[in-house]
Amino acid sequence: MLTNKVITINAMAVVTKGQPLAPFTYEASPCGPYDIEVKISHCGICHSDLHLIDNDWKMTHYPLIPGHEIIGYVVQKGSNVNHLSLGDRVGIGWQSSSCHKCHWCESGEDNLCLKQKATCVDHFGGFADRIIADSRFAFLIPKALKSENAAPLLCGGATVFSPLFERNINFHHKIGIVGVGGLGHLAIQFAKALGATIYVFSSSENKATEVQALGADHFISTTDPSNLKQMASSLDFIFFTSSASINWALYMNMLKPKGELIILGAPATELTLPLFSLIGGRKRISGSNIASSKEIAQMVAFAADHQIGAKVELFPMHAANEAIEKLRKNKVHYRAVLVNEE
Ligand code: NAP
Ligand code: ZN
Ligand code: ZN
Repeated sequence: MLTNKVITINAMAVVTKGQPLAPFTYEASPCGPYDIEVKISHCGICHSDLHLIDNDWKMTHYPLIPGHEIIGYVVQKGSNVNHLSLGDRVGIGWQSSSCHKCHWCESGEDNLCLKQKATCVDHFGGFADRIIADSRFAFLIPKALKSENAAPLLCGGATVFSPLFERNINFHHKIGIVGVGGLGHLAIQFAKALGATIYVFSSSENKATEVQALGADHFISTTDPSNLKQMASSLDFIFFTSSASINWALYMNMLKPKGELIILGAPATELTLPLFSLIGGRKRISGSNIASSKEIAQMVAFAADHQIGAKVELFPMHAANEAIEKLRKNKVHYRAVLVNEE
């Protein structure tokens, strides 16, 4: 039943910069024609939530309710929502809307729409018991995936799947994955399923065994730069998923001629490197943002087929600060997920 009443939502918010998350209640407008009301069961914590909390990207407006790796159940829907039913389990990621009219939207690349909006930028996110969301950016979650393992797929999984898939990564390729956090550990699993030979670059030596169990072929500790120098001209692609900057020239040097560095991690930094690290071998650097809604649906199906999911540490929603502090210290194996207790 669609109600016209405003909906009271209980959340965890950073009210002013520098403050911890605290309980916060707000009134949401009733569902519009394409909207759904989702009762949230789980919400992953992406490092982008931490960048937003700290206003690293200078785009945060407080009060901020973070959270864009959401799983929940449809409890109300607007009159134009035909592909979802009440009770369906859905996932919601970073992107909350697009214009549906521009070249990018019409060609199926709605993650490139210039009018897109994000779930927790100028919009209240998923550290909450409910959310009103545009159903066109909500994805049915197959039964094969558990909610807690699926939540991080909605941003982290989508972000790594899209460039791997777009480049047709397969058993011919030797690829590097830099950083083994939420994105990195999912990238390993997707790349393994696609058949690549995987070299993982990590600053955390204690992750070596787990990383190999996830499917990586080689673990390279980045604490000793000579490990990287030895790998000159050996990789076809490098996927950068770290939340901290690296020595870019050292990584460009590991690419084969015509190799490509794909930047997914978003530390608030500038990229500087000698131009000759690009010119000599006709190398490329590119960026990649999340995934289109079409790719997110493909990614979820692929994850279900290949039993790919996040390795998670669970925290009750009210303990969001504890989870955030663990993430800040790079101590989470590999994704913190907040759970709403029944
Ligand atoms: P995460 O879970 O915190 O993992 C980041 C990893 O980076 C860490 O596990 C660590 O890997 C490495 N790292 C962190 N601090 C470091 C330091 N001081 N020195 C060296 N390495 C460090 O983060 P995430 O959720 O995967 O997100 C990673 C980045 O991707 C963030 O910047 C996030 O904003 C960005 N992101 C971008 C998109 C997009 O659309 N492009 C989407 C989602 C997220 P090791 O311990 O293995 O070194
Ligand atoms: Zn994210
Ligand atoms: Zn558009």
